[in-house]
Amino acid sequence: SSWFRNIEPAPKDPILGVTEAFLADQSPNKVNVGVGAYRDDNGKPVVLECVREAERRIAGNQFMEYLPMGGSIHMVQESLKLAYGDDSEFIKDKRIAAVQALSGTGACRLFAVFQQRFHPNTQIYIPVPTWSNHHNIWRDAGVPIKTYRYYHPESKGLDFSGLMDDIKNAPDGSFFLLHACAHNPTGVDPSEEQWREISSQFKAKGHFPLFDMAYQGFASGNPERDVKAIRIFVDDGHLLGLAQSYAKNMGLYGQRVGCLSLLCEDQKQAVAVKSQLQLISRPMYSNPPLHGALVVSTVLSDPDLKKLWLKEVKVMADRIIGMRTTLRENLENLGSPLPWNHITNQIGMFCYSGMTPEQVDRLTSEFHIYMTRNGRISMAGLNTGNVGYVANAINEVTK
Ligand code: PLP
Repeated sequence: SSWFRNIEPAPKDPILGVTEAFLADQSPNKVNVGVGAYRDDNGKPVVLECVREAERRIAGNQFMEYLPMGGSIHMVQESLKLAYGDDSEFIKDKRIAAVQALSGTGACRLFAVFQQRFHPNTQIYIPVPTWSNHHNIWRDAGVPIKTYRYYHPESKGLDFSGLMDDIKNAPDGSFFLLHACAHNPTGVDPSEEQWREISSQFKAKGHFPLFDMAYQGFASGNPERDVKAIRIFVDDGHLLGLAQSYAKNMGLYGQRVGCLSLLCEDQKQAVAVKSQLQLISRPMYSNPPLHGALVVSTVLSDPDLKKLWLKEVKVMADRIIGMRTTLRENLENLGSPLPWNHITNQIGMFCYSGMTPEQVDRLTSEFHIYMTRNGRISMAGLNTGNVGYVANAINEVTK
């Protein structure tokens, strides 16, 4: 009867706690710019038409059998093409070990366990700040965490020299987690030229890059553009890891569909690595879920559905880019003396506003606007109906 007596409640998740507080608020003005999930201009969640059509084709047409341990081979192949390019020689040469994963989180976690198992005395370098769950993932996998600089608080842009210094100063052969695009929470990405420099410095140091790509297509509206950093590293001859997610770019959040791939030296290595990844997932969940994988493979392998997806992902990205412009214009028109150019310079789901925790607390208590206390605004929560209200509130609390 005393099994659970000593268990204290776990601390609230900083992101999910925001949603709980938002739901409990009765104000008609309330706005949720906390959670990173897309909303349309009416503030409603969206199911993409390409996904609906894929579901119509799947319905009644598929068995519900287990997927193989590594997940849907079809979905994994399509994911590799999306990431490494349709004509990638590495795909042809079967040099990529890849398995379906439980969305981006699951892909990161599989990698973290793999790292711990096969490189037990290594650390992972993660950027400051980063998606808060990265800390939990590597901690629970038993990998010590180090951090590297990336964000420059004054300019709310990239701290490129800090980043390069930290890459240089890390011990040779370190593991680094890199956000492929639309850095969460800052929205601050290196330019193509800067990625080239980063890649060559990684080469010089023999570091291993794990790319976390949760927003391919969602950032710029073009999946080929958003994957550029990975292509640069691949062209430079790196071996690398890649966590892909279809949560945002296909709106499949709850379906938990993603992919972990590791580019190896040759096919033999890739076979061995894949078998080890399966040995990690097997005792955790045996095999990954079916439905989302079928949706993704159906959309990406049908030229018409893929075209529709490309159109729809661009609509989502463009709406967010438009909201950035509107929010900035509103703040400038209100006469805010602060610079707000970072709102439009940053990219992806989030704007790292630079507001202090106290200012965020005032937004919540006085204006019923909910967001994480680090000042991160989920741009997807803004729409033509509330952006003026939010701009006014931000102006009030930052005066
Ligand atoms: N990585 C980053 C940087 C993210 O922002 C997210 C989602 O917020 C994820 C990974 C994982 O998301 P999911 O597990 O839903 O694919």
